[in-house]
Amino acid sequence: MRYRYISDCHLHSGFSPDGGDSMAMLCERAAALGLHAVAITDHCECNEYDSAGYRESARASYLESKRACVQFQGRLQVYAGIELGQATQNLAAAQDILDACDFDFVLASLHNLAGRPDFWELDYRDEDPQALLEQYFDQVQELVEWGNFDSLAHLTYPLRYMVGEHRLDLSFESLYGRIDTILRTLVMQDKALEVNTSGLRQKYGRTMPTLKVLRRFRELGGRFVTLGSDAHRWADVGAGIESGLSLLREAGFHTFTIFVKREPKQFPIE
Ligand SMILES: [Zn+2]
Ligand SMILES: [Zn+2]
Repeated sequence: MRYRYISDCHLHSGFSPDGGDSMAMLCERAAALGLHAVAITDHCECNEYDSAGYRESARASYLESKRACVQFQGRLQVYAGIELGQATQNLAAAQDILDACDFDFVLASLHNLAGRPDFWELDYRDEDPQALLEQYFDQVQELVEWGNFDSLAHLTYPLRYMVGEHRLDLSFESLYGRIDTILRTLVMQDKALEVNTSGLRQKYGRTMPTLKVLRRFRELGGRFVTLGSDAHRWADVGAGIESGLSLLREAGFHTFTIFVKREPKQFPIE
């Protein structure tokens, strides 16, 4: 391994509907790879909090990750996290789960526009992708202004499908202003930005976000960046994290961040 500290702070276990493996399997894999730390961040889709059972599954994930933390002591740091989806679409749900569990790390994400299906489910032949992207960034902006999270997950998520799967021809000129506003708001609130490496092993072939956005974040004064593979199975734990660290170096960062009890801890990229 080229880097001294390799940590994966975006992992899904069987407590996520699209995750298949137990937390013990994820942690065993991370320990075998020599990772320094992991954060378990099972899904809690706030807009489906009760209808899809997240009220229970997010609590169960939290308790299990606390157990894994004890079980792996001395071999691997395990942190209890959550991927809080669409918090601004059900603020009461977001508050309820954050009050119920003492998470180390809260990722905020947006998988669907208000009242619409997840971006992976949309039939883009019936949509105006450019307008969807503008709405996506506007709603991410609302999420960032809400602010009760530590790191913003996979900014540019719709591109995984629009570009990766459907090869749509998009113009980014109208979007950079919106991305800038999001980055500035993160900086003002001292929040972290995530480098999500899942796109590297999918058709999209890039991180979310890409180097250009990471550079801009640093230029604007961003200090905290977290890294996550977004693995949904044990074989993907740690995937792409070293590439993510190299990208961060290229963007001018000398450290990356892990959250412990919701406080940022910086680690050298060396
Ligand atoms: Zn996500
Ligand atoms: Zn995820």
